[in-house]
Amino acid sequence: MTFEIKERDAAGRLCKFTTKHGAVTTPNLLPVINPNKMMIPPKEMKKRFGTEILITNSYIIYKDAKLRQQALQKGVHKLIDFNGSIMTDSGTFQSYVYGDVKLDPLEIVRFQRDIGSDIGTILDIFGTPGQTREEAEQGVKETILRAKKSVPEKGEMLLACTVQGSVYPDLREHCAQQLSALEADFFPIGGVVPLMENQRYPDLVRCILAAKRGLDPSKPVHLFGAGHPLIFPLAVALGCDFFDSSAYAKYADDGRMLFQWGTEKLDDLTELPCCCPVCSKYTASELRELDVKERTLQLALHNLFVSFAEMKTIRAAITGGWLWELVEQRASANPSLYDALRVLRQPEHLSWLEHYEPTSKKTALFYTGPQTIHRPTIYRYHTRLFTRYEPLLKTTIVFPEGTKPYSMFYSREIKNILEKKNVNFVVESHLGPIPFELDEMYPLAQSVFPNEIDQETREKIKQVVDKFLKNKTVIRWDECTTIKEEKSQKQNVDLDMRRISAVANMQFGRGASEALLNGKITIIKSKRTGKIRNIICDGVHVFSMRAEDGLFTLKLDGGRRLHMGLKYPLLRVVVTNDAEPFVKEGKSVFAKFVKDCDPDLRPFDECLIVNENDTLLAVGRTLLNRDEMLAFRHGMAVKTRESIK
Ligand SMILES: [Zn+2]
Repeated sequence: MTFEIKERDAAGRLCKFTTKHGAVTTPNLLPVINPNKMMIPPKEMKKRFGTEILITNSYIIYKDAKLRQQALQKGVHKLIDFNGSIMTDSGTFQSYVYGDVKLDPLEIVRFQRDIGSDIGTILDIFGTPGQTREEAEQGVKETILRAKKSVPEKGEMLLACTVQGSVYPDLREHCAQQLSALEADFFPIGGVVPLMENQRYPDLVRCILAAKRGLDPSKPVHLFGAGHPLIFPLAVALGCDFFDSSAYAKYADDGRMLFQWGTEKLDDLTELPCCCPVCSKYTASELRELDVKERTLQLALHNLFVSFAEMKTIRAAITGGWLWELVEQRASANPSLYDALRVLRQPEHLSWLEHYEPTSKKTALFYTGPQTIHRPTIYRYHTRLFTRYEPLLKTTIVFPEGTKPYSMFYSREIKNILEKKNVNFVVESHLGPIPFELDEMYPLAQSVFPNEIDQETREKIKQVVDKFLKNKTVIRWDECTTIKEEKSQKQNVDLDMRRISAVANMQFGRGASEALLNGKITIIKSKRTGKIRNIICDGVHVFSMRAEDGLFTLKLDGGRRLHMGLKYPLLRVVVTNDAEPFVKEGKSVFAKFVKDCDPDLRPFDECLIVNENDTLLAVGRTLLNRDEMLAFRHGMAVKTRESIK
């Protein structure tokens, strides 16, 4: 098995996952195939939807003498006539629905192995939301025990070990940690169907977050039994890679149609709000007039079209950097989902999410409503403002929200004020306080807010602004005329120098600007835009400012300065000795060669690549955070830019 991150956004990831039967792009959806009743044959699914992976139930095959015989003889792929990857379930859900199913936990794992399943699942204990803590604890204990015993039986099959723990986050996390310590390959999050059926999305989110916290980040995570597209974007943003859908068939049986925003009854629709091939071919009344079997089939096809379309939308959002926008839009369609989104505001969840949040994105941050201000990117900005930014001067002039970039918009005012007095300039923006030096940095310049923001955002912003301006001498913009000329302070601090110094500290941490800007500085600006491009220190090009996100790209000489100025392990990615020659040649760093890493590095941060003795080898840009670098066995961890030859 290989599993590697190709693109990422929020805590979601677009990965390449391979089994013996080929490569699968994640996030992805596994349609559930009932071997007794194949409404749409797997081959047909592959043709119509490009289905790369599906799931069938080994327990159903096992308990039917004929199917069992066939599966053992020719394998599960031939049995259901599908040559892509096949995951099998174990009967856990059946034992939850029908009570005791009399199944030997090891026997069913061996059976899945023997019929050639690509991913087999342990027979875990389904934890229900109604369980007492003791019951849930007992179930988790037994699940872990069964997982331990199942691992030696897996052979070449990938083994899925399901995280249980009912609605107790600490039990979920404990279960996830214990399972991650085993030679397991795949982690479903189980016992969540009752939460979904009752739209208990806030509890579902707590379960996912707790499991993710404890899980090995380098393994695929499957939200077991989650087949409604409504939940896909949020679950992906929290790091779920796989979903399975029996919903497409179940809902079709019941005359119901799935949509990105929820479910509609065919009987209630006068028009079909969809353009899939089914809804393009039939009108609502034509669909109703079909005979039951045909109608159910057509509804099932529609349900799959919508589900796969949502997966495509999510993958596009990950690649494009607009996954949070998608999550927030979808959540506004369902109040319970909206409540679930609010769970993420809690500091412990925000802090976890911030570790996975990319430093910069291809697209601007778009406001969708009161939840936007609580995104991890903005949380990071606010946190760093208090820990990494140092105002240069005593007096601060506060401007109201204006056109971006603010320093350009208010350039005349700045000039007039600076002639009288050396001060700091801050904009009270919709995103929080923004010192002028930072106004080109992601996401401050790369954000779009409406002219009028909601009350909740205003209150949140006010808190941050008040905290930021506390103990400072503050002059409101409309009081500027009262500023008296200070003859003694005629020597101005250069605004460009203030900008590069402040951004360096925000991006690399306090002390970075001193380390980088020690010497005679020459700033080269773009002739076309007038913006800062390259920074030369004592005749050497140390770093460049990127036009798209206002952050720095490190040159090797900038790396040398940071390496000298910032103590280990700051900004470092440590590679093993055997990787050293490759890095020196300029090759990128693969995760399996990472020995250690600064815990403060985030995906897409600039970093220093060093050997085990902390000798600088190269500079580059991270693709993973520390936990991921240390866990992943496949894929790139750092893209090397410039190395010491
Ligand atoms: Zn449709």
